[in-house]
Amino acid sequence: MNTNNILWHDHHITKEDRSFIKQQRPCILWFTGLSGSGKSTIANALENKLYEMGKHTYLLDGDNVRHALNKDLGFSDSDRVENIRRIGEVSKLFADAGLIVISAFISPFQSDRQIVRNLVNQNEFIEVFIDAPIEICEQRDPKGLYQKARCGEIKNFTGIDSPYEAPMNPDIHIKTDVMSVDESVQLIIDTLINQGYLNG
Ligand code: ADP
Repeated sequence: MNTNNILWHDHHITKEDRSFIKQQRPCILWFTGLSGSGKSTIANALENKLYEMGKHTYLLDGDNVRHALNKDLGFSDSDRVENIRRIGEVSKLFADAGLIVISAFISPFQSDRQIVRNLVNQNEFIEVFIDAPIEICEQRDPKGLYQKARCGEIKNFTGIDSPYEAPMNPDIHIKTDVMSVDESVQLIIDTLINQGYLNG
């Protein structure tokens, strides 16, 4: 193929430019926690609040990603690693677009969360531990998954027959057995304000 006539386009618009017009600093709020701990509930409430504040966000959630981008992946250890790797790369692209990205995934392995942290600048990854005792998660069982796992209908279920490695030093720790959804959202918003993410 003759490549003489193919011009290389320099991308002059940077992440900083894209963030500046949005009057915010991009970041990935990485929610990790057991099924039923409250990731989706708090992520949705947080995105609503940020939208009301005029901030530009994108919410990546376990179920919507597993139905589309990662529909070829299951729940074996190796598929879970690949699931998080792809989500990390997508989160990185959205952050590069200047967005505040909320990524809500069980993401049970410490090493996978570290890989995503290493993909972006140090101040762009905020680990949010959505924490509730497994007994409470199992009582809530919003999707009936614990019941299915206990009956053996679902294999490799985190917290039952697949491990969950809790963050050792999360940037934000939310205990949903003692904090309301509104209090949880406010804690995250306060952290974002204090650390300058919501200013241009
Ligand atoms: P996950 O996304 O972590 O699997 P979900 O958000 O889907 O969890 O489900 C959590 C369930 O717990 C919901 O039914 C929610 O209404 C309930 N819940 C009760 N208290 C809280 C709380 N303080 N924070 C978040 N969710 C809560």
